[in-house]
Amino acid sequence: MKQYRKCSFCGRSEKDVALLLTGLNGFICNECVEQAYNIVQENQISASINNTKLNLKSLPTPRDIKDYLDQYVIGQDDAKRVLSVSVYNHYKRLLQQKTDDEVEIEKSNIIMVGATGTGKTLMARTIAHLLKVPFTIVDATVFTEAGYVGEDVESILSRLLQVADFNVEAAQRGIVFIDEIDKIARKSDNPSITRDVSGEGVQQGLLKLLEGSIVNVPPKGGRKHPDQDYIHVDTRNILFICGGAFDGIEKKIAQRLNTHVVGYNNVQHRQKIDTKDLMQYILPQDLKSFGLIPEIIGRLPVLTYLDPLDRKALRRILTEPKNSLIKQQEKLFQMDGIKLTFDSEVLEYIVDKAVEYKLGARGLRSIVEAIMIDAQFEAPSKKIKELNITLKYAQQQIEKKHSLA
Ligand code: ADP
Repeated sequence: MKQYRKCSFCGRSEKDVALLLTGLNGFICNECVEQAYNIVQENQISASINNTKLNLKSLPTPRDIKDYLDQYVIGQDDAKRVLSVSVYNHYKRLLQQKTDDEVEIEKSNIIMVGATGTGKTLMARTIAHLLKVPFTIVDATVFTEAGYVGEDVESILSRLLQVADFNVEAAQRGIVFIDEIDKIARKSDNPSITRDVSGEGVQQGLLKLLEGSIVNVPPKGGRKHPDQDYIHVDTRNILFICGGAFDGIEKKIAQRLNTHVVGYNNVQHRQKIDTKDLMQYILPQDLKSFGLIPEIIGRLPVLTYLDPLDRKALRRILTEPKNSLIKQQEKLFQMDGIKLTFDSEVLEYIVDKAVEYKLGARGLRSIVEAIMIDAQFEAPSKKIKELNITLKYAQQQIEKKHSLA
């Protein structure tokens, strides 16, 4: 009977695995190699996060930060500049604290206002990646006031601790992106007609984190439990970036602009207002009219906005970012030895569909996937060297999907 060799790590026989490599004193199968590779990579990432000691020399300047953002995020120049400066200041502030200077630089948490899918999360994520600090995204809608069904706001910090591999020091200088902050706005201007479980109460809870305090964090996240050992996390140096669509805030901005623009002195000023894009005039008081409590607004002193993405921006997003959707597709095919190309009408068509679906840049990916899925299925088993996607092919693929819907 044939003696099969076995993987020294998982013990599987060579007949059950695709490949068994032979070493000096043992064997390893392809699957254990892959797993080992992943473990090494994850360790390298967390090591680089946890060991990065910040110093002024190694800190990227606002211009460096913006240049880096430019590689991944299309347009949104105002937001990029504002974000680059506040992130830079935030880290300068961290460095300064060690020297006990008299002038204490205050923390500058950020709030970004802009329609969904315009790049808010992408921007926060890209910055965290550049600075190699722990980064987590949380959705404000899952939080409820303590004592109600849902998550406590402290669970934000549990997540940050998890990505920092429970290195409290690293977590304490991380970045938290709180998405959909607009969804916890107070529903009415009258503060207390009924209890507002998911609105003002949550804002009060968040306030504690934003202000900077020592928070007891249940290590496993979820609800606080009397038997759990808490980890004490100081949120003073955590940078909070909040984002929200604030649907309908343009109306509040318009109202404010109208009430301010009275008297003939202001007639000229009025003419200069670009009524198509009111978001650029946003001020903290508009957030208040929308239902954020003044204390929260005060703790988010840096306010910026994102432009809606027009056709031109969507077209650029398809091809220009370093990891653009089209570049990713090309890479996937290149790994099978196939040179993938797109007729330029196809790219225009993808943009048309994204505009039609009204999903902003978020829609692009599913459209590209729908066009490419059959080709991705067939191409690897065909011995082809090149593949060109034509408009006709793209239309067929999308229409096929629609006829099934
Ligand atoms: P949101 O503003 O809702 O946070 P996201 O940042 O999550 O939007 O954007 C969703 C996706 O759309 C991103 O992952 C990215 O692929 C794409 N995207 C959105 N805006 C841009 C942009 N300005 N530049 C490049 N890609 C973008």
